[in-house]
Formats: sequence, structure tokens, C-alpha cells
Amino acid sequence: MRRRIGEAGWITTAAYVIVATACATHNQPSEPAPVAAARPTAAPPRAPLAVKDAGAEVRNDAVADAEVLVEDHAPPPPPVASPTPPKPHPLDGLTEAEMVAKLRADEAALGSISLGATNAGGLIGGVQMQSEPGWTAVNPGQSWGTRETIDSLKRAIAAVLAKHPNTPALRIGDISAKNGGPLSPHRSHQSGRDVDLGYYYLGKSTWYRRATRANLDVARTWTLVKALITTTDVEMILIDVSIQRLLREHAEQLGEDATWLDLVFKGRGRQPPMIRHVRGHATHLHVRFYSPIAQNSARLAYAALIKTGRIRPALAFIKHRARRGDTLAKLAKRYGVTMKAIKTANKMHRNLIREKRVYLIPKKGGPPPPPRAVAVPPRLLPPPAAPRTDGRSSPVKTAP
Ligand SMILES: [Zn+2]
Repeated sequence: MRRRIGEAGWITTAAYVIVATACATHNQPSEPAPVAAARPTAAPPRAPLAVKDAGAEVRNDAVADAEVLVEDHAPPPPPVASPTPPKPHPLDGLTEAEMVAKLRADEAALGSISLGATNAGGLIGGVQMQSEPGWTAVNPGQSWGTRETIDSLKRAIAAVLAKHPNTPALRIGDISAKNGGPLSPHRSHQSGRDVDLGYYYLGKSTWYRRATRANLDVARTWTLVKALITTTDVEMILIDVSIQRLLREHAEQLGEDATWLDLVFKGRGRQPPMIRHVRGHATHLHVRFYSPIAQNSARLAYAALIKTGRIRPALAFIKHRARRGDTLAKLAKRYGVTMKAIKTANKMHRNLIREKRVYLIPKKGGPPPPPRAVAVPPRLLPPPAAPRTDGRSSPVKTAP
């Protein structure tokens, strides 16, 4: 049976986006939010949608306290990389009626659709990452991603297999549920773009083994990480700082460009590093990919998805900090909504409005505008290797 993607709130404060938070794996405690800013030129869609589970209410927790609000108007990154060539989008030129017809006849014909944000989203037409030689899906039921996510993973692992013979299978942890949406115990992993990956180990390779200097296969792990950064549309990678040190040390020994390594591990100015430390990522790494096709499909097919009942229009919220004298009735009148709507949005049991508390006010009106277009920032590529003066080829591999 098809599941319906339900409504969820998003903050309409224009300068802010909700940045999804880190992963946690089964039976592991949730992790704190990463100190992660959205990459500057990225325009991820706000969080308009969430899968409606049986009995689930409107997911106002899309804007829960735990989430990190980060400014979305940072300057563009320095011109260190060549831009990803623009591709025509597969849904370009289709009318809404044509998309409705396709959705009704064969939903899969529209390809993967990544809805909303990674911490308040859904997935339509996901692709399952099944075990193959080279990798093992630890939990195949939760290994659904966008077509782009799965292709990117396979491409990066293939780079490791090509470079290092006799490579053991990489463990693939959670990606997303088949229809996306909340995936316990993670806060993100909702829209088919987050992946938990094991490290490569020198000894026995098991899922969720803590990586250390003694057991980390730093060469294979670095090849994997470099392939992710240079050959796929990665938004960020979460790796424990202790492992980052080992990777950077190895990369320096290989002669990788120091400026590029700084951008990868440290960032520059307001540009966050590609690899970030979040506690809990010594046992696995977390990759978040952009899925420009699947994310923009959500935008282009938005009206058709609503028309066919596949998703429901999102509710928009504005934030109101209560002032002295504010009452539920006054707020309802001021914003033109019902008292009940405000109570539902804020999970209030009584009519009491507390001074200085911030309340979410559901915006009145029809369906909100569709999510904004997603632009993928240029890939972070090392500079072309300088020719060596001794006549031998350079040890530094440049990205294809
Ligand atoms: Zn994760």
C-alpha cells in the first residue's frame, strides 16, 4: 500500500534553514547536533514534508529545540573547484497534467524524489542498496536512498576496489526507510540522502567497531573518503576527530595539496570543512549527499504530488515570541487562525500563553510555494598536480 506523505511545519523566517542533525545507529544514543552549517551556495529545500505514520500528528517537531538553525546567506565558497556541469532535469518540459498521469500510471517513472529536509522529509521511488561483492548492507530494510545516493556510494566504493586489491566488504549502515521519514534512532536519514558507512579495518571487519590507529585501514579509508569528495555530490561527512587526524596524516604522506586538505578538514572563513567532527563517529562515518535530480524532482512534481494525494500541502509556520498581555485568543485573531490550530501546532493542552515563550503560528492560506531549487556547490577538487622535475609522474592523483 502506498503511504501518504503528510504535512509538517517549516519555519518561514527567510534567512534561516533547518540543518539536519547527525545520525545514530541502532541501540546507540542520539548524537548532538553537529556544528554544521549548510554549505554556502546550497539552497536545500525547507522542511515541508514528512511521512505520516499511523497515528502520527503533524510533525511540528521538525522545528524542535534540538535542531540547529543556521544562517543561509553565507558568502559563496572561494573558487577552488570547477563547477559541476549543469544537467538537464528529467522532468523538465513535463506539464503538471503529464506528471499527474505518470504518477497515477507508474510512479516509478518519475524516478527518485527526495522530499523536504534530511531531518523532516520523505522518499518516493527510492532505490535499495543491496549487498554485493564489495559491500554488505547491514540492515537492507533501511538501505533505501535516492538513485543518486546509491550510484554515488557505488562509485566511491568502486574507486577503493580498483585501487586496492583484496579489499574486504565495506559495511553499509542505515540510509533511509523505503518511504523515508523518521528512522529511529536517527534524527536525519529521512530523505534518502544520509548514509552511515563503516570504516575499512586492518583486522576483522565488523559493523560498528571503533576505529583506532591500530586497526584503521587508513589507506583504503582515505581512498574512499577522497572518492566521495572528488567524484560525488557530497554535502558533508561526519568523522570523529581522532580518525580525521589519521586520515590527514596519511593524505599528507601521499603528497596531497595542503590548501585542499585545509578546505577538506578545516574549512575557510565561513565555509565549513567538508569533514566535520561529531561525537559518535569513531565507529562509522556519516555521509550526506546532495541529490540534485531527486531534490529538484520534489520541486517540479510538487503540485502533481499534491494533486494525486501522494503528499499533502505543507503548513508554514511563523514564530511569535509572546509579549506581556498576549492571550491565545489575541494571537488567533492577530494571525487569522483558530485557537485550536495554535494549540495543535505547539502541543498545548491548556490555553495559557507564557510571556517570552516562542510559539509557532500556522500560517493561514492555501498550499505554500514549492521548495526552492537545489543548487549543488562546486566539488572540492585538489589542484592539478604540478609536474615533477625529476621526470617521474606526480604521486598526487588529481580528481577525474
Ligand atoms: Zn548517520
